[in-house]
Amino acid sequence: MPVSTPFTGGCACGAIRYECSAEPMMSLNCHCRDCQRATGSAYNTVVGVPAAKVQFTQGSPQYYETSGERGTSVRHGFCPMCGSPLVALPSAYPVMMSLRASSLDDPSWVRPAADIWTASAQPWDTMNPAIPKFETQPTEEEFQSILA
Ligand SMILES: [Zn+2]
Ligand SMILES: [Zn+2]
Repeated sequence: MPVSTPFTGGCACGAIRYECSAEPMMSLNCHCRDCQRATGSAYNTVVGVPAAKVQFTQGSPQYYETSGERGTSVRHGFCPMCGSPLVALPSAYPVMMSLRASSLDDPSWVRPAADIWTASAQPWDTMNPAIPKFETQPTEEEFQSILA
């Protein structure tokens, strides 16, 4: 993805700011119900980056946890002041942090490589036919194929 590092982002009210010093590993659109609820929209575009390369330069998110398939869970970080969703930490991929594309200062360089959880996509949602679709969570092997 055409991005120069470090790149920055933050929440809507400005209380929380972060900086990422590594290039993204991948980007995808998640159409699961948890993401729909958390975004208030049809799907959630995330950018996966090495968790160790993200630094909160101002404030720190508050987290809540959701449990997924096969005993995995995801911790979701949001701004306690304005409620903006910012990051997620999937227990299945502990080295990765996913940044909400919406929280980036410049989200225009993001290139989602796949649509996942399309089984719960909304009928009023439109998807890019050119990228791969996964009905639920991609397997480890499928996941590797969509890494940048
Ligand atoms: Zn905020
Ligand atoms: Zn999701």
